[in-house]
Amino acid sequence: MSAASHPSQLIDQFGRRVDYIRLSITDRCDFRCVYCMGEDMTFLPRAEVLSLEECARLVRTFVSLGVSRVRITGGEPLVRKNALSLFEDIGRLPGLRELTMTTNGSQLERYARALKQAGLSRINISVDSLDPERFHNITRVGDLDKVMRGIQAAKEAGFTRIRLNTVLMHGINEDETIPLVEFAIQQRLDIAFIEEMPLGAVDHDRASTYVSNQATLKLLQSHFTLHNSTESTSGPAHYWRIADTGTRIGFISPHSHNFCEACNRVRITCKGELYLCLGQENKVDLLPLLRENPKDDEPLRAAIIDSMRIKPKGHDFDLRRREPAVIRFMSHTGG
Ligand code: SAM
Ligand code: SF4
Repeated sequence: MSAASHPSQLIDQFGRRVDYIRLSITDRCDFRCVYCMGEDMTFLPRAEVLSLEECARLVRTFVSLGVSRVRITGGEPLVRKNALSLFEDIGRLPGLRELTMTTNGSQLERYARALKQAGLSRINISVDSLDPERFHNITRVGDLDKVMRGIQAAKEAGFTRIRLNTVLMHGINEDETIPLVEFAIQQRLDIAFIEEMPLGAVDHDRASTYVSNQATLKLLQSHFTLHNSTESTSGPAHYWRIADTGTRIGFISPHSHNFCEACNRVRITCKGELYLCLGQENKVDLLPLLRENPKDDEPLRAAIIDSMRIKPKGHDFDLRRREPAVIRFMSHTGG
């Protein structure tokens, strides 16, 4: 059945239709980005994390309920052993219109071609600096050269509309706004600026590093001719086209622009927790339903449909608060 003739059965109490899931397949990562993780992280024991078969079963169930877009994320999805087999399992599910992934790019040189063959449609690659030393400092361990080779490999594998994701931080990498966009233009990539979200306790003061996308847009408008675009990639990014280039600039602005009204998504953590909103605690634990009913998807389907009742109207991020709104790390929830 085609996705068009099979609209999502998942409709919340505000009439929003959920047709997009983001699934974190691991909380582990080979980087330790300063805005995302602490330096010393304790990762979950293997038994508490969804197996790849459970991940595939979850995706199949959501797709059978009409979800047509799936983003695989983490942690770093490609550090999960055999992650490729999951993409092969779900890449060509009938009804799935788009399978995408967010990655730090460190393993792409190795996997890009096979991922393309498995049916992955698009990739977002996180890059916060073009300076190797600064990149290393932001990621605490990352090798920029390896990520650059990963971007190249993705292009060579035939991925189009590759998008860079950048979290700008005042006093850390804000001065690279223009060079990053110039790099995107030169490499024929899109780029999205993500405002730092107060998820998980980190060791810098987010209120002082916060850069509003409004300010970034203003800066970019003074350097480039930008055309406001109504295009959407089904995510929360608002896009602008750079005149005379193929590059689009996206802005993901949880603070300065409230994207909740059009929210069409839910998130599933690597523990199988279905979070109805990135910034709220409302959740349903799907792991017990998976494990207690290995051959029967009905309890799982019923719980997913029922979860729509508790999808909150919106998130509640406030940088002035000392404590993060939600103690979950992005690497746990999936970006
Ligand atoms: N490891 C992959 C990566 O870095 O692309 C995928 C997971 S990561 C959690 C997904 C996205 O979330 C990345 O683009 C990252 O920059 C972003 N991110 C992580 N923590 C964030 C935070 N506190 N605020 C805003 N974006 C964040
Ligand atoms: Fe890892 Fe991605 Fe978090 Fe960086 S943002 S620490 S690459 S999960």
